[in-house]
Amino acid sequence: MIAMKTKKIPQRMCLGCRQSHPKKDMLRIVRSKEGEYSVDVTGKKPGRGAYICKNMDCFAEARKNHGLERSFEGRIAPEIYAQLEAELRTQLDANENVDTEGGK
Ligand SMILES: [Zn+2]
Repeated sequence: MIAMKTKKIPQRMCLGCRQSHPKKDMLRIVRSKEGEYSVDVTGKKPGRGAYICKNMDCFAEARKNHGLERSFEGRIAPEIYAQLEAELRTQLDANENVDTEGGK
């Protein structure tokens, strides 16, 4: 029974909307041993990770509902949020150039 090889797409729960989505559609936020937070583009950074949808709405939601704090079991300073927000935005901009108006 376990021998049956079903190809399951790995799903992760979003910190913001708390819905599960395929891992590849999400961004990983990682906390290193040193306690540094960053957006993990490769998905291979060592440390404790959490996942979020590739949109700023979910990030805003995660900030509001303290999803990050819950995932990482600790307080997260406002500047960490600001830094992650900037990194996320960079990633989203790199992935798709949807938002062309009002940029600079
Ligand atoms: Zn989400």
